[in-house]
Amino acid sequence: MSDFGGALKPIDEYPDYRIAILGIPFDEKSSYLRGAAGGPAAIRRASTGKCYNEYTELGVDLATETVLVDLGDVDTSGDMDKTFALTEKAVEGILGKGAVPVILGGDHSITYPVIKAFSRKYRALDILHFDAHPDLYEDLYGDRLSHACPFARIIEDGMAANLVQVGIRTWNPDHRELAAKHGVRMIEMKDFPPSLSLEFKNPLYISFDLDALDPAFAPGVSHHEPGGLTTRQAVQIIQHLKASIVGFDIVELNAARDASGITAAAAFKIFKETAGKIIRP
Ligand code: MN
Ligand code: MN
Repeated sequence: MSDFGGALKPIDEYPDYRIAILGIPFDEKSSYLRGAAGGPAAIRRASTGKCYNEYTELGVDLATETVLVDLGDVDTSGDMDKTFALTEKAVEGILGKGAVPVILGGDHSITYPVIKAFSRKYRALDILHFDAHPDLYEDLYGDRLSHACPFARIIEDGMAANLVQVGIRTWNPDHRELAAKHGVRMIEMKDFPPSLSLEFKNPLYISFDLDALDPAFAPGVSHHEPGGLTTRQAVQIIQHLKASIVGFDIVELNAARDASGITAAAAFKIFKETAGKIIRP
C-alpha cells in the first residue's frame, strides 16, 4: 500500500484522522470497457513517497498540516446493491467522525451512493463535476445506474444545491434539457475561458472523472475524448477555487490503458492539490 507521497499516517495510531482515503474497486456499471476497478490500486501504487514529496504546489504539507489515513477498499465482492450500500455506509462513517472522505473509484456510478451519504449530512451541497461527459443520461441501455447516469440521479433526488460541470464535450439535446430544467451550469470545452475562477457558497463536493483531462495527458481512461483539459488547467481551477471542500472523488482510472502510469500520476497530482485546498482554502 502506498504512503501517498509520505503523507499517510497509520490508522491504528491516528484514530482521530482528518482526511480518509477510501477505495471502491468497482466497474460493473461501465458501459464500454471494464478496468476502472483497478483504479484505487493503481493510484496507490503510483503515489509513493519514493517518487513524490508531501508538499502541494501551494506549500501545504500534507504530512504535518492534517492527518491523512487510508481506510482501504470497500468490499465489492457482492452484487451492485451490496457494494453501493457498503459504499454509502463507509462514507457515512467517515463523515460521522467529522473527517473528509476522499473516494478513489471505480467507475463514475459510485458517486451516486457517495452523494447519498453526503446529502444526509449537508442539506445544501454544491458539486463541482469535472468530466468530458455530463453523465446526465436518464438511462443508458435501460440502466439508470450506469456510469453515464449518476448526475441525473443526483439532481433528480435534489441532492445538489448547485451543480457545475467542467470539461464537457459530449452533450446531447436530452442532457441539455435536463441540465436546463435543474439549473446545471455546464462549462464546455468549446468555449473554455483562458482562466476560470469558481466560487461556491455551500459546502463543496468535487467529483473528478479523469476523462475530463485530454487523453494526451491522461490516456488511462475507458473513453478517450480528445480536446480536453490540460492537467495544468485542472490544477489551476482547483487552486483558484473559493470554497469549503468537504469531500471529493477521483474516478474512471483504467490502468490497463495507462501504459506509462501518467494517468495515475495525474490522479495523484489532482489528489494532492485538492487535499491542500481542503486544509488551506
Ligand atoms: Mn463520468
Ligand atoms: Mn467521463
